[in-house]
Amino acid sequence: MSWNVLQEEQPLVMNLLTKSVEKNRLAHAYIFEGMRGTGKKEAAELLAKSLFCREKQGVKPCDSCAECRRIDHGNHPDVMMLEADGASIKKAQVESLQKEFTYKGMEASTKVYIVDDADKMTASAANSLLKFLEEPESPTLALLLTENVHFLLDTIISRSQKITFAPPPLQKRIRMYTEQGAGEAVSALLARLPDQLAETFAEEKKEWIVQGRTLVIQLTEEAQNRPQQMLLTLQEKWLDHFTDREELDIGLDLLLFWYRDILTVKMEKEDLAYPDQKEKLEQASLHLTEKEVADRLQWILEAKRRLRANVNAQLMMEHLLLRLQEGS
Ligand SMILES: [Zn+2]
Repeated sequence: MSWNVLQEEQPLVMNLLTKSVEKNRLAHAYIFEGMRGTGKKEAAELLAKSLFCREKQGVKPCDSCAECRRIDHGNHPDVMMLEADGASIKKAQVESLQKEFTYKGMEASTKVYIVDDADKMTASAANSLLKFLEEPESPTLALLLTENVHFLLDTIISRSQKITFAPPPLQKRIRMYTEQGAGEAVSALLARLPDQLAETFAEEKKEWIVQGRTLVIQLTEEAQNRPQQMLLTLQEKWLDHFTDREELDIGLDLLLFWYRDILTVKMEKEDLAYPDQKEKLEQASLHLTEKEVADRLQWILEAKRRLRANVNAQLMMEHLLLRLQEGS
């Protein structure tokens, strides 16, 4: 991701970093947090380049001088990248990085270290890093990248400036999940779920989402044409599939996406959460007015709120399905 693309996709982040470099007011440590594909690593590398580039224009690095290229190739003496070795970042890795910087500490230039997936540091690695943040031996800039900022030590968070990267636009997210092998139908749903959840599902529970969407398609069809079947499906399948509150909440999201799609079809727009179900959606859109779809969206949102208030899940779902079916 180039400087210009980042500037376009993450204008707040890039403006903030640009201003800090211009005014020479960079913090000693930053946490770049945001989901996969938001350009955290690219931003970190560009920031490092901006500090060392010999041909930069303003703060924008040239990407082609010797300094820039060394950073690209991971062999710049003052820029170190730390990545997970297997599942975690270990204490020995942090220590060897610190040792290397100490050797080079004689030179006055700033030392930059980028820790990718910083939440994967073991507790002892994190503590070792913390000492470094507290008492650097020479001017340092720490860039800690993470998709899960909540897994970082509070003490690290409090010593760093946190910068949040905005989630990528919908189409880009769909593409991201497709590239991870999720299949188009599932990717269209994953891209609409909250980031953290979607990441987990993309990795571990793709099949579960596939089954969940099949249930949504079945239930909404029954609500429209075979209401006597609907409550049976709820008991025998839905409640078996969406078992705890978190899962039920996702079930409601999937249901919400379905009715939103009906509205999308009505307005003759593309961009469906159920792109392969266009025919069924079109049929459903003939049965419901815009107002009736909007009501249903409200009821589903209401059910999501009630779910949080600890209601009985089965009663909540029965009530909702009857409303979806009867329209009142
Ligand atoms: Zn350069």
